[in-house]
Amino acid sequence: MSTSPNTILDRTPLIAGNWKMNMDHVQGTGLLQQLAVCLTDAEHDYGSVEVALFPPFTTLSVVRSLIQDDGLNLVCGGQDLSQFDGGAYTGDISGQLLARLGCKYALVGHSERRTIHGETDETVNAKAKAAYRHSLTPVLCVGEGLDIRQAGRHVQHTLTQLRSGIEGLNSDQAATLVVAYEPVWAIGTGEVAGPEDAQEMCHAIRAELTRLFDTDVSAQVRLLYGGSVKASNAAAIMHQTDVDGVLVGGASLDATEFANIAGYERQATP
Ligand code: PEP
Repeated sequence: MSTSPNTILDRTPLIAGNWKMNMDHVQGTGLLQQLAVCLTDAEHDYGSVEVALFPPFTTLSVVRSLIQDDGLNLVCGGQDLSQFDGGAYTGDISGQLLARLGCKYALVGHSERRTIHGETDETVNAKAKAAYRHSLTPVLCVGEGLDIRQAGRHVQHTLTQLRSGIEGLNSDQAATLVVAYEPVWAIGTGEVAGPEDAQEMCHAIRAELTRLFDTDVSAQVRLLYGGSVKASNAAAIMHQTDVDGVLVGGASLDATEFANIAGYERQATP
């Protein structure tokens, strides 16, 4: 497998599959079994990327057990977490509960949480801090809507979300952070931002992290692009200097497609 600029900088590429509110525990078991076959295909080497799955909460336990029992080279995370650690918060799932299940990651600030559940930048920041309290790595989702993009304010808007989301984090925490740039107009729409758009924003995010912390920190943070990623466009996006991974929604529900995204290097060099 060829070495990308990202691996030289020791940022292991992260391929993340957000199953959203799909896949009950039986369907999730089936998808994971198919994925295990695709990902362990002897002809292909997926060893240099980290693959993370974000099933619905009710499917997490069975996914985690299968990963453990079959020794699969996969990790999992929660699609959200509460900013609180426990108690009378009906319907919420704490970082503690996710950590207890062996989760490594938690998405925070996904645009569907911001839009449908009215989550503010302050809530997103509280959730990122809650993740760290339980040794989970937050995947902080940021990105602009179509109106903001058309007005040319996408960089400013996204960096404001970034600054609010990480407020109060120390350098050690910030260095392990994952940030997913997801332009809202590209999520689930089939519209994909061009690789140059992904690079423009990821570069701006890294520069802002340098300004807020230093280059030691910003060089370690993994930056993902999300929005209608497919096997056919993954390689071009992944080869951008500041892009260290992808957050995949719809295409992560198809084992072959998702495995081909994880094997993007092979797509680029047939
Ligand atoms: C997402 O849910 O974060 C996402 C990027 O979805 P999709 O890949 O379907 O656009």
